[in-house]
Amino acid sequence: MEFDFDIVISGGGVAGLTAAAVMGAEGFRVLCLDPAPPVTEASAEGADLRTTAFLQPAQALLAEAGIWDHLASHAAPLRIMRIVDAGGPEPEPRVIRDFDSTDISDLPFGWNLPNWLLRREILARLGALPNVTFRAGTGTSSLFTREAGAIVGLSDGTRVKTRLVLAADGRNSPMRQAAGIGVSTRRYGQKALAFSVSHPLPHENVSTEIHRSGGPFTLVPLPDHEGRHRSAVVWMEDGPRVQQLAALEVEAFEAEMNRRSCEILGPLSLLSRRSVWPIITQVAEHMSGERLALMAEAAHVVPPIGAQGLNMSLGDLRCLRDLARAAPDRLGDARMMAEYDRARHREVQIRAAGIDALNRASQISAQPLRDLRAVGLDALYAAAPVRKVLMQMGLGAKG
Ligand SMILES: Cc1cc2nc3c(=O)[nH]c(=O)nc-3n(C[C@H](O)[C@H](O)[C@H](O)COP(=O)(O)OP(=O)(O)OC[C@H]3O[C@@H](n4cnc5c(N)ncnc54)[C@H](O)[C@@H]3O)c2cc1C
Repeated sequence: MEFDFDIVISGGGVAGLTAAAVMGAEGFRVLCLDPAPPVTEASAEGADLRTTAFLQPAQALLAEAGIWDHLASHAAPLRIMRIVDAGGPEPEPRVIRDFDSTDISDLPFGWNLPNWLLRREILARLGALPNVTFRAGTGTSSLFTREAGAIVGLSDGTRVKTRLVLAADGRNSPMRQAAGIGVSTRRYGQKALAFSVSHPLPHENVSTEIHRSGGPFTLVPLPDHEGRHRSAVVWMEDGPRVQQLAALEVEAFEAEMNRRSCEILGPLSLLSRRSVWPIITQVAEHMSGERLALMAEAAHVVPPIGAQGLNMSLGDLRCLRDLARAAPDRLGDARMMAEYDRARHREVQIRAAGIDALNRASQISAQPLRDLRAVGLDALYAAAPVRKVLMQMGLGAKG
């Protein structure tokens, strides 16, 4: 079979664009497709207002692919992960525990960046890679595979031949469905609100997760802007409560969020729109098929706790890059696809199960169980070796 491209990437979200840069930097001929044009300004309609905290291993991958140079000056480092239990009868901090990156490393745990800016800067990097084509406005629509290669049908009616199809086309992945790979899904009746705020107290590069009921309220540092201290917020609650919060006038919303944040950084002021995200855990039955590798939300969706989602996705990508680098002539063959599934599927299942347990613990509303959660946090924290292992696992440095 004559191939038009070595790799066709279905999906130009943050995961798909990063994959295009990483595989392009390896010298492969890459085509990346997305039916939706990327939105690269915060104020534009449809902008992704979430932020992503890149943990150490993910940052290393971005640096190797020449992306980090574009991002470093926009990133806020995260030096401390603070867990606050505010699960008593009144919303006030009753247990505060700090996980300090200097306990395990000279580097910060991670670096936080807005998603719309990631798209802008990764596209700038792709512009410097002549072997990478990014086509916005065209999606993938069909998949035909043989042992020797794959033929991908596109929404403009054309077809391309490739050695490997990389599905990074989101939680309803059309390529995963075309290959007949099923998923197992857990629903929580929960949603997340994502927005940014300013606050009078500096965050001091501390990421703070406040637990009460309904899910965590997480403040993640952003760089100061025009003399104001800023953070990104992800606030998880039961679905109907989130819809109600999203519809409130700004002043009423600020009063609710300040009650929930326990004013840990002083009174918060809303700086952006509020976007609403449904929360599920979902894992694909396999991470690969014939000439097909699934990555990111096409393979796994987890609640936004501990900054695991996209970081797991970059773990998928690193694994695939290493396999391709070790045996470029075998790119996408049956052995490589089996190796990829073996290396990633179990790890993804274990991590998804851990995040699911944390999320359910954070959702509980019964007072005695909330009290038990506070005791559990204290016990985990008190044992220094356990604390360090937890931190390394959180980074993805330990499975
Ligand atoms: C509130 C919130 C906060 C989060 N915070 C963090 C964090 O701090 N750290 C972290 O690691 N993760 C975080 N995550 C998770 C992270 O945002 C996701 O893992 C990531 O954005 C998903 O990226 P993706 O590229 O897989 O999917 P998507 O962003 O859904 O991209 C999929 C793309 O595929 C395209 N597509 C659809 N159909 C087709 C087709 N037929 N052909 C081609 N393309 C197609 C879509 O248009 C889309 O652009 C968070 C998630 C949420 C909900």
